[in-house]
Amino acid sequence: MTQAPVELTTLIDDLPGVASGQGDAFRQMGIRCLADLLLHLPARYERSQQHACIADLDAIVGDTTETPDLATLVGEIASVKPAFGRRGKVEAVLEDESGQLQLVFFNQAWIRNRLQPGRRLRVSGRPGRFSGRLQLVNPRIENAGEETVMDEPDQLLPVYPASESINSTKIRSVIQSSLDIGVALLVDHLPEAYCQERELLSLADAYRLIHKPVQGEDVSRARHRLAFDELLLLQLGVMMKRHHRHETLNAPALSLDEERHRRILARFPFTLTAAQKRVVHEIGKDLECPVPMNRLLQGDVGSGKTAVALYAMLLAIADGRQGAMMAPTEILAEQHHSAIRDMLEDSRVRIEVLTASCSTAEKRRIEAGLASGDIDLVIGTHALLNENIQFNDLAVVIIDEQHRFGVQQRALLRSRRDEVHQVPHQLVMTATPIPRTLSLTVFGDLEVSVIDERPPGRSPVITRFVRGDDSKRVYEHLRDRVTKGQQGFVVVPVIDASDHGLKDVHTHRDRLAEGPLSGCRIEMMHGRLDAETRDEIMNRFRDGQIDVLVATTVIEVGIDIPNATTIVIEQADRFGLAQLHQLRGRVGRGDHQGLCVLVADPVTDDGMARMEAITETDDGFRIAEKDLELRGPGELFGARQSGLAPFRVARLPEDLQWLLVARKDAALWIEQDPWLTEPEHGLLRRRLLKAHGDALGLGDVG
Ligand code: ADP
Ligand code: MG
Repeated sequence: MTQAPVELTTLIDDLPGVASGQGDAFRQMGIRCLADLLLHLPARYERSQQHACIADLDAIVGDTTETPDLATLVGEIASVKPAFGRRGKVEAVLEDESGQLQLVFFNQAWIRNRLQPGRRLRVSGRPGRFSGRLQLVNPRIENAGEETVMDEPDQLLPVYPASESINSTKIRSVIQSSLDIGVALLVDHLPEAYCQERELLSLADAYRLIHKPVQGEDVSRARHRLAFDELLLLQLGVMMKRHHRHETLNAPALSLDEERHRRILARFPFTLTAAQKRVVHEIGKDLECPVPMNRLLQGDVGSGKTAVALYAMLLAIADGRQGAMMAPTEILAEQHHSAIRDMLEDSRVRIEVLTASCSTAEKRRIEAGLASGDIDLVIGTHALLNENIQFNDLAVVIIDEQHRFGVQQRALLRSRRDEVHQVPHQLVMTATPIPRTLSLTVFGDLEVSVIDERPPGRSPVITRFVRGDDSKRVYEHLRDRVTKGQQGFVVVPVIDASDHGLKDVHTHRDRLAEGPLSGCRIEMMHGRLDAETRDEIMNRFRDGQIDVLVATTVIEVGIDIPNATTIVIEQADRFGLAQLHQLRGRVGRGDHQGLCVLVADPVTDDGMARMEAITETDDGFRIAEKDLELRGPGELFGARQSGLAPFRVARLPEDLQWLLVARKDAALWIEQDPWLTEPEHGLLRRRLLKAHGDALGLGDVG
């Protein structure tokens, strides 16, 4: 019987070294075929140290700073004990001129045949001690023949992500058996000349070396190629999308003159801050162009982003077109609606609010008005994305994301029905500063504007850190404020009581109601209530029918309740810095001085550092930087939120330098071959679309 030739798609079951029945264990780890196997990269490497003699090793094992991960030795089998016990334990003694050590094998009764006394073996395993005796458990063994001890340099052994049913050693041996055949089948998607220019290994070499490095440098060169590859692919995607926006798509070029500018500004009951003026100018420039704007507006809570958004929408309306604004929740949509309606009172702008709770008749009416152009400005929730909604001539879309990331693929709003290449200008607003590395990757196609100034006359919220023992005083103060007609939030980490020692909404509410806040109107709010109930509670709170809201972090999202002056955050060290800052932003939005009290007994340095950072500064950007510093970059990279597949090899911000190079190259590349249609880019294009096509919305590019 002839065997079918091995290909990258050859099933795992058909690869050498995979016993029948083992295929499932591989599949559970996502390894179905040879290609998947090659993509299963080592999590780390162990360095196997070859020791001159047993006595050498004996001298250092047990001292944790010196004990090597793996030790390799050559010696002679001195004695063997027969297999015994349920696990077929086999014991042997290995010796050289300097001493002896014990070899112990479990579940490998067959190995006894290879351990004849007098045989010279090279053994390699993790050294340890048992009853004081030097020992290697389940070492790998090879016949050593007559070779001398020091003939091989230190070895790097890849350690693979493994599972309960299949261990790293097994994975390693299966990979090693197919590695040469596998890498020979790999076709590189990067042109050879480019790889040479950038000193990148070929794809085949990179995979070979990452699985079978000879020296440490091999790992870093292999990693360089694979990480750079990932960064380059993403940057090419981002640049392609940018090119698509610039060259294929159109947006209405709005006319902007001094007169219009002044008329719009006259609508605001305040003078714009310098930062708002700067941003309005940046946006105005974008809107005058037929290239669709794709801009991110960053500004701390309360920095006045809404006015900037309104400016852009009014410019569209002045031009005889429409504007739309999308908010993450119904209550926020309504809040924007009423604030904007107030500013537009006695103007001719026709404005509506569209949410899921509009009646069918209302929805019909609004749909008709948007389609005919009778409605100039619509504010709503995701309900605006309903396919029944057709605009007559939509020129500006605002997306108020609050602090949530997630820029990809949301507003599929078209300017007009049937005009595929006509899209509105888009402005995304966020209160969360985005670290630079992130803004270069996922958000790489966004222009960024920043409002780094607060409207005048707003005193920052006072933040105090108190120990748990002092919380009685805190609630007395809150009660005092309630008596004066003010309101407050109390935030705890979890919804239900558990044995993790975390305060929960239910118990804490009862404690407050029976104790320090008895007589106050207290309500609960948390993420398990449905959206309707949450909105209903928020409405009653806004209308002053509730004094104190005991809640989880659901209240983070930006509702404006000027009369809420106090927020108490229990076990505050359990929350992230950015989160604490968002929570603090819930108060101090009215005339009274805002107060934020952090109640905590931090047990870690890190927890204490966060309490200090948040009490020290009120500047969201500095807090974000501090957060990055304290938490490390891993979590912040934000691929999860953005819908992009996480990197397998690249790491940010460590690989920032490579990212910058990849970005530069990608820009140049796309300039020369925008859709990667040249034959030598064919494979690259396919791999790019497969990796990022969906997340970057490159579907209609393909
Ligand atoms: P955010 O950036 O958090 O969305 P808002 O747009 O809601 O902030 O503005 C917060 C408050 O500041 C609102 O009450 C708004 O009317 C007010 N405001 C905005 N800009 C100014 C300004 N230039 N001068 C005075 N008040 C302003
Ligand atoms: Mg806002």
